[in-house]
Amino acid sequence: MRKVIGVLLFLIHGTVFSQTRPNIVLFLVDDMGWQDCSVPFWKELTPLNKIYHTPNMERLAAEGMKFTNAYATPVCTPTRSSLMSGMNAAHHGITNWTSPKKNNSTDDTDAEMQPALWKLNGLSPQPGIEKTTYANTFPSILKKAGYFTIHVGKAHWASMGTPGADPKNMGFIVNIAGHAGGHPQSYLGEDNYGNMPGKAQPQAVPDLEAYFGTDTFLTEALTKEALNALDAPIQNKQPFFISMAHYAVHTPIMLDKRFVQKYFDAGMDSTEAKYAALVEGMDKSLGDLMNYLKQKKVDQNTIIIFMSDNGGLSLSPLRGGAAHTQNLPLKAGKGSVYEGGIREPMIVKWPGVIKPKTIANQYIIAEDFFPTILEMAKVTHYSTVQTIDGKSFLPILKNDKYTDTSRILIWHYPNKWQSKDGPGINYFSAIRKGAWKMIYSMRTGKKELYNLAEDIGEQKDLSSAYPQKVNSLSILLSNQLRKWDAPMPFLKSTNKKVPMPDELH
Ligand code: CA
Repeated sequence: MRKVIGVLLFLIHGTVFSQTRPNIVLFLVDDMGWQDCSVPFWKELTPLNKIYHTPNMERLAAEGMKFTNAYATPVCTPTRSSLMSGMNAAHHGITNWTSPKKNNSTDDTDAEMQPALWKLNGLSPQPGIEKTTYANTFPSILKKAGYFTIHVGKAHWASMGTPGADPKNMGFIVNIAGHAGGHPQSYLGEDNYGNMPGKAQPQAVPDLEAYFGTDTFLTEALTKEALNALDAPIQNKQPFFISMAHYAVHTPIMLDKRFVQKYFDAGMDSTEAKYAALVEGMDKSLGDLMNYLKQKKVDQNTIIIFMSDNGGLSLSPLRGGAAHTQNLPLKAGKGSVYEGGIREPMIVKWPGVIKPKTIANQYIIAEDFFPTILEMAKVTHYSTVQTIDGKSFLPILKNDKYTDTSRILIWHYPNKWQSKDGPGINYFSAIRKGAWKMIYSMRTGKKELYNLAEDIGEQKDLSSAYPQKVNSLSILLSNQLRKWDAPMPFLKSTNKKVPMPDELH
């Protein structure tokens, strides 16, 4: 009898627990394009969808909700800072990726433009750190609320020598392999992931000594470490948040021998085949994690959010670049404010809340994760030093038909990415409201207008057909940039900041 009561109490307790404190997995992939998977995120299966094999993403989509209009920023650190702070990139001002080295701008020089005064040392959990933005992170709030917080993989929130470079300062109890580096020196255990004796490399991946000299691919090593780290909170019945942030599928595109052969056999060129294998290795990690949660019997109480931090790398063919991925039907890729640079593959699974196999078309953006994750964790009372720009997408998770066409989203990239000058890459801002998107070139003052409902590829510039629309979006964009005191580049010819879009007619 006592045993029965015990079991009943456990069940009741277990139920209450599960209703109040779900576990949360944020599975963040690096540089993965919208079409770099076998899950179709467009209205039809594309040739790219047919190249890739991501069965575990398919499984996640079958068990959860697929977002067809999920956005990030054009490059790594701005998105990661938006995720952590709940602020838009134009607001936190970390508009380009941070260098591992402190006070080192990653802007390339330009004949006409002087770089914007952006926060080039990144995000900081402490005030008073030069060239950083001080903000409270959502993992630190979760930790205070009793969550066991784990970071695995790429961090890239801030430069070395500043507090934000260390995930443990950003609200994580455990950190494995996260630091100031933005890509791995090597994916290979045989290379010690870049930690070669006598050759200190800023991008060498830390913390994985146990795999040095083995044939363990980085994605696999990180997954094993993540599952090990989850044992403790699961055993202790403590709710957990894990940031599973893969270095994959960022460059260097290296050969993962577990998966590459079938892509070679399919006749893909060497880089394309290696890239597809990198994607499949990431997908295996997702599957391993899902299997582990099921085996530990916590899958029904665990939310999984799948996301990428910017669009797939796609160098302009005009520059002779060997594109190892492209984003068709989207235009351009990483670095660009066109859809190929910012639209991301996103899936959310939440047993008991999200209806399986649903599709949400409402647009959302990286800063929305902050309030959403805290709401998921039922953390309602918290204060932050920063104003949160993100909006919880819980209403969408509960209703896939949820629509809000009045919301505006903003992208702001007042930077220069090395010498690459592909479409929409250097010195651009953009705004979306409903189906309309306006793109503003800070260099030329040109404004383009697209209707994404009819023209997802942004091929037909409607700016001369709808001047009123251009005007109203210019005002909305400018007002928001002014309100956020967004960093703007300077014109070398006048030594003045470039005009706001509504100052040009
Ligand atoms: Ca990235």
